[in-house]
Amino acid sequence: MSDTSNGSPVVKEIPPKEADLSAWYTAVCLKAELVSYAPVRGCVVLRPYGYGLWENLQRDLDLRFKATGHENAYFPLLIPESLLIREAEHVEGFAPEVAWVTHGGQEKLSERLAIRPTSEAMIGTMYAQWVHSHRDLPILINQWANVVRWEKATRPFLRTMEFLWQEGHTAHASAAQAREETLRMLDVYRDFAETVAAVPVISGVKSAGERFPGAVETYSIEAMMPDGKALQSATSHDLGQNFARAYGISFTDVDQQIKFAYTTSWGMSWRMLGAMIMTHGDDRGLRLPPKLAPLEAVVVPIVRAGDDRAVASARELAAHLQAQGRRVKADDRDESPGWKFTEWEMRGVPVRIELGPKDLDAGTVVLVRRDKNKGEEGAKTVVARAALSGALSAALDAVQAALYEQAQGQLARRRYLVQERDEFLARCRNRDGFIEIAWCDRPECEAQVKAETTATSRVLMPLEGESPACVVCAQPARVRACFAQSY
Ligand SMILES: [Zn+2]
Repeated sequence: MSDTSNGSPVVKEIPPKEADLSAWYTAVCLKAELVSYAPVRGCVVLRPYGYGLWENLQRDLDLRFKATGHENAYFPLLIPESLLIREAEHVEGFAPEVAWVTHGGQEKLSERLAIRPTSEAMIGTMYAQWVHSHRDLPILINQWANVVRWEKATRPFLRTMEFLWQEGHTAHASAAQAREETLRMLDVYRDFAETVAAVPVISGVKSAGERFPGAVETYSIEAMMPDGKALQSATSHDLGQNFARAYGISFTDVDQQIKFAYTTSWGMSWRMLGAMIMTHGDDRGLRLPPKLAPLEAVVVPIVRAGDDRAVASARELAAHLQAQGRRVKADDRDESPGWKFTEWEMRGVPVRIELGPKDLDAGTVVLVRRDKNKGEEGAKTVVARAALSGALSAALDAVQAALYEQAQGQLARRRYLVQERDEFLARCRNRDGFIEIAWCDRPECEAQVKAETTATSRVLMPLEGESPACVVCAQPARVRACFAQSY
């Protein structure tokens, strides 16, 4: 914060969220110091506060991957062209976004190297070397990595040329095991989104047109943004034997027959953070769910002239909470308390702990919840210092739960089950939210909806006794489809 007026820095203005979500989003990402634009097109720098969010996402997801039997490994960034092109659909799907290395120093390479847009080709090639017998299966590996996909637009977390993600790659002896793995990881993502990022999602299978290039089935979790657009927040792919055939992952089964393995891949990127920021933030800035917040609480001393007890006491309090494993810091900078309040609100810290002269005398502190508006019931509580650690725990749990509940309310209000074609198309055009219909599941029908409204199917679910005819084209309905415009 470098602007100054009256000697004290001013927290920069953020445009109202409702008036212009896009401007609000960019301003919040920059002003809360999550990211900076980099001097290379399409890329952002993840600053320490933003990286803190990523680390918390990573830590939590990593535990979930380990608990479901996966190990981490690391594979090369560069993929020889001859490997990438082995799975025809895969290379066709990624071709427009691949960045190529053509020279090493001054020397032109005899074979171009792709900067990984995803690692099926590299990892499939290695699995082919590692798998011989059914005893070598399953292989359950995850990689935390960066990938590059050539993008024209740049939006922090949502669309960047280089981004951070994890990609799980597994190989199995049977189709059933691969499908089970695909669905298990989809559920890991759903649970993470809901219980950690506090972002409610819908999950299901993708239509053929929205499928990952080369997959048999793609599943995804989709969050709804405040502008009614869907944000795909993670995907899980059942690759069947397509990649095993292309890369030669075969094994001798119990019956002595040589068979191709069944593989899966699944990924969540820092896009999930974009979904979280857009879902929860308000006109004052970020509102971070405590489980992801780099700082769970900040202690702000309110200093009275000639009385420096508050600063020392704030430091002591922060140290005490840190020793209990809390992510807390004391803001002992030489700025006014009001300025600090505004800044930490903008940066979305879930709970503020105020420590003023009266509190010092009374042995109390004041807890202020970021999820509530000023003056709202429960926004501010006076707590005895001895009871602080329990009260802070309870406040963090309450913020986590309240953010999820609010987001769930927003999602529920914007889900429509529609029977009429005209209403369906109008709602799709208007970006009303998730528009669900009985649907035929035909690519031609989806293409027509896209041409007329720019909406696409986000996920498909089983029919629940809806009309047997497709709402769009009146051919027999096979699924319930959720349509929306998407990021
Ligand atoms: Zn149709």
